[in-house]
Amino acid sequence: MNKWEELDKKYIWHPFTQMKGWVENPQLVIERGDGVKLYDTEGRSYYDGISSLWVNIHGHHRKEIDDAVKAQLDKIAHSTLLGLINQPSAEFAEKLVEITPEGLNKVFYSDDGSTAVEAAVKIAFQYWQFKGKPEKQQFINLGDSYHGDTVGAVSVGNIDVFHKVYKPLLFATKKMTCPSFYHSNLGFKTEQEFLDYLLKELDEYLAENADKVAAMIIEPLVQAAAGMLMQPKGYIKGVRELTKKYGVLLIVDEVATGFGRTGKLFACEHEGVLPDMMCMSKGITGGYLPLGATMVTDEIYNAFLGEPEEYKTFYHGHSYTGNPLACAAGLAGLEIFAKDKVIENLPPKMAVIEKYMERFSQMQFVGNARQCGMLAGIELMYDKEKKVPFKPELLIAGGICQTARKYGLIVRNIGDVIIFMPPLASTAQQIEEMLGMLEQAMQEVFAEIAAGSKTDFSDPCAF
Ligand SMILES: *Cc1c(COP(=O)(O)O)cnc(C)c1O
Repeated sequence: MNKWEELDKKYIWHPFTQMKGWVENPQLVIERGDGVKLYDTEGRSYYDGISSLWVNIHGHHRKEIDDAVKAQLDKIAHSTLLGLINQPSAEFAEKLVEITPEGLNKVFYSDDGSTAVEAAVKIAFQYWQFKGKPEKQQFINLGDSYHGDTVGAVSVGNIDVFHKVYKPLLFATKKMTCPSFYHSNLGFKTEQEFLDYLLKELDEYLAENADKVAAMIIEPLVQAAAGMLMQPKGYIKGVRELTKKYGVLLIVDEVATGFGRTGKLFACEHEGVLPDMMCMSKGITGGYLPLGATMVTDEIYNAFLGEPEEYKTFYHGHSYTGNPLACAAGLAGLEIFAKDKVIENLPPKMAVIEKYMERFSQMQFVGNARQCGMLAGIELMYDKEKKVPFKPELLIAGGICQTARKYGLIVRNIGDVIIFMPPLASTAQQIEEMLGMLEQAMQEVFAEIAAGSKTDFSDPCAF
């Protein structure tokens, strides 16, 4: 155990980690990154198959972004947005308005995805107070939704293993059926029937209750933290039409899907959705520095305007809001999107992922291998025909992720789902190599299961 592993195990409490398993098992210490690879203190290299938890877009140690941050550092690292302006946050806001769906004309900065959602929830609530409809207080969310880990974001979340224990602390929401066809046990034969059901459910609820609903919040196209659950085509468009029809705000959480992840710059673009609010973080700085943004329409922003004595100010903000270094990284990242034609170059990369997902689907213990653009989830099943999962205590998916490291790939599972989310900068060839490594790891573990020899993985990484 080297010095850093010792210090870490002595002093650090890791996120989403059972620390008992963590301290008992050997861990990697990452020293540096270059392109789509991470290097540990032992000199070994690994593909970053989850974009450092879904944030990295253009690769690590990317010269243009490094230079932009260094240049900003030579001016100032941070000054506050409370009462002062800084240059990068102003320039970045202009660009964000330009690239996001029409109508989102104002940017409220914060620090991460959770705070971007917190701000959206509070803005939506307060908006209706100012519009003379204070009874519109309820939020609609989706089954298995995830919007971050602060208490407001957890209130609009719905993943039992993460959220259930906090129920007494949370505000109540109206939960709609999780729009994942694969996981639905409602018995629909086709995805179209399932889609019709979902929209009818929402329509009927809103017809009765819209006068008490402030907003609906969704992760568009993919519910990522739930295990990459995909929504039927037409779903987000349908949700937008219904929320508009009944006068309910639509908050779109693009924290995971934004900045090219789904094959377009924002997931909303796939179905021409114009939301009332959009939350962004993760890829916003190319994965360099923490930054969140909540985009809103003029209609919402204007509702908060007034004289001081009207107390219409949005009393919310964070110390590092609009941090100049983070905004400088964001600006440099957007330049790379344009210069390298990042979005235009995605199709051949997505095709490699698609090829492997088809191949993985044929494997004995893979129930479902699904993809949306540059993200994918491989869901394991003990019996794929009858949809019988593995016993959770076997930690099979976590064991595969551990095994993949041996071949040179970092990936991480959520429950029984192995998540694959390479940086958008990965070449088709690199993606081919990464998925080849994952395939080897899966074959190795599956062979052990089939031989009846593998019954336990003491994996510290599994949730
Ligand atoms: C990751 C994530 C969040 C939370 O973002 P943090 O930066 O981790 O606070 C919120 N919503 C979605 C959809 C996410 O994937």
